[in-house]
Amino acid sequence: YQVPNWSGGWFRVSEKGEMEVTPGPGLHAPLRAIVDEIVERGESLPVILRFPQVIAGRVRHLNEAFQNAISEYGYGNHYQGVFPIKVNQRRVVVESVAAAGYDYAHGLEAGSKAELALCLAQRMHPDALLCCNGFKDDGFIKLALWGRTLGKNVVITIEKFSELDRILKQARALGVRPAIGVRFKLHARGSGQWEESGGDQAKFGLNAYELLRVVERLKEEDMLDSLVMLHTHIGSQITDIRRVKVAVREATQTYAGMIAAGAQLKYLNVGGGLGVDYDGSKTTFYASMNYTVREYAADIVYTVQEVCKAREVPEPVIISESGRALTAHHAVLIMPVVDVTGPTRDLEDLAPADEGSHQIVKDMEDILGNITLRNYRESYNDAVGDKQTLHNLFDLGYVTLADRARGEALFNAILRRIAKLIQNEKYVPDELEDLQKVLADKFICNFSLFQSLPDNWAIQALFPIVPLDRLNEQPTRQATIVDITCDSDGKIDKFIDLRDVKSTLLLHEPGDRPYYLGTFLMGAYQDVLGSAHNLFGKVSEAHVTVKPGGKFHIDLFVRGQKARRMIESMGYEEPMLRDAIEDQADAAIKGGILTNEQENELLDDYGEELLGYTYLEYEEG
Ligand code: PLP
Repeated sequence: YQVPNWSGGWFRVSEKGEMEVTPGPGLHAPLRAIVDEIVERGESLPVILRFPQVIAGRVRHLNEAFQNAISEYGYGNHYQGVFPIKVNQRRVVVESVAAAGYDYAHGLEAGSKAELALCLAQRMHPDALLCCNGFKDDGFIKLALWGRTLGKNVVITIEKFSELDRILKQARALGVRPAIGVRFKLHARGSGQWEESGGDQAKFGLNAYELLRVVERLKEEDMLDSLVMLHTHIGSQITDIRRVKVAVREATQTYAGMIAAGAQLKYLNVGGGLGVDYDGSKTTFYASMNYTVREYAADIVYTVQEVCKAREVPEPVIISESGRALTAHHAVLIMPVVDVTGPTRDLEDLAPADEGSHQIVKDMEDILGNITLRNYRESYNDAVGDKQTLHNLFDLGYVTLADRARGEALFNAILRRIAKLIQNEKYVPDELEDLQKVLADKFICNFSLFQSLPDNWAIQALFPIVPLDRLNEQPTRQATIVDITCDSDGKIDKFIDLRDVKSTLLLHEPGDRPYYLGTFLMGAYQDVLGSAHNLFGKVSEAHVTVKPGGKFHIDLFVRGQKARRMIESMGYEEPMLRDAIEDQADAAIKGGILTNEQENELLDDYGEELLGYTYLEYEEG
């Protein structure tokens, strides 16, 4: 499962073969024990485990990486991060970042009015920045300006030129001096799935001409001191460190150019993009990154300093808007395996072919008995042809249901035998490449892909998936994962691999004890992008602190959304639903279909489900 490669030291496999969270020196706790405690308390799964200590650790790690680079290179200014809350607006996440970041004056970034309203209410270090990005109307601008009167270091970033006049007008009306940033469209682009966020065609930002017009305009207004920040962003999850360096060089040259034009900028904001190594391969593959947080910080500090020296301009405060890298590690989705289905395995349970069996079944039995390394390709092609014939004959009424069952089981047995035979072969014919996937079992897990891992569905994002225990036991079943939505897209059939993407995951044969899978690194974007497909709602979550001695404490358990809330979000009202059921039940009583007693029971059950969890609830957990 590659745990040491992707975990960044925040998770490990214990000697007992259990996944443990390791949020700090000497701190470790097995995830299975946490889940068992949740189940013992009578709570239902799935659940997201959140570890605020991991967020705090990530905030420290990023800030220390910049501090170390700054002192190593003798950089003449400091670093300040801002957390873009769109990555995860959950209260526990924002408050954990703000608390851990307080001493570093780590700030927040808002991209909408609602996000700004949320950010303004947070306790922040007086120097911490509150950056307002995104397109803005007058209401957004006013709220941001009021923020300055609350003593907050609010910077309004101009994303398009026309916003400047709006800001000046509102600032005059309120009598508040604004702090303004400008987003510049770098011609440099990121690498990976979000590379279109940068480049000349980017959705946000000003071009070089507009940038100079902003400087001129503010000069005319005698407000040049209001222009404090140059902002750039070339996309999230930048996989290649060279792209970061190229973009930061261009950004710093732009900063120097603006200083030369008379601006007095204080901050250079390099945006987001710091990656997360989801597959642990340390490559430029889209689910990975070829650099560490330390290298990221060092390369940015070095590049900014180099350009500033050459251009003889003051070294600015360096800002980054890292979001993914701060929050991805803190959350683990726990998915119980509720069933396993797959190609028929139980040949023994089926009656063997006999005299009465159709010839095609006998032929398939022959193929199964004679597969060798020399003839497996021919056997495969014969079996495919025979299966097709079997189905055609069945449609015409010449093959019985029992023979069809036997034939299908034989076909699967042939594929399994071939897969085993060729598992170590270097060359595999094209038609057999997908054999593992075809033969894989489907592990049905109690979760919704669309609610909990939307990026896996939308953009093929990869997340490490690992059983919570039995990790010192050889797993034996090749599996894909399916969720409980009524949507055949609700499946995971791409898994991390150091060299490639795997189409199956090796899992253990589930036994008597519940078997739980953990999906890791899902704390960035997934919580907020999820959708209520099939009315599966927000998942329950447990906020857990790890204590010394392998102990842990569940600080807070937040139950997932109830069915009633999901239904009401679609415009229905609970009393309306209950009345409709009652009316129908009354009619059924009149029709003699239902008794009064049954009606009461029905209404109780209906009410209980309205108040219940939207996911499957089994008593055994
Ligand atoms: N800043 C801006 C302007 C963004 O658009 C984004 C997201 O794409 C971020 C910051 C956060 O990026 P990341 O999560 O890669 O750090």
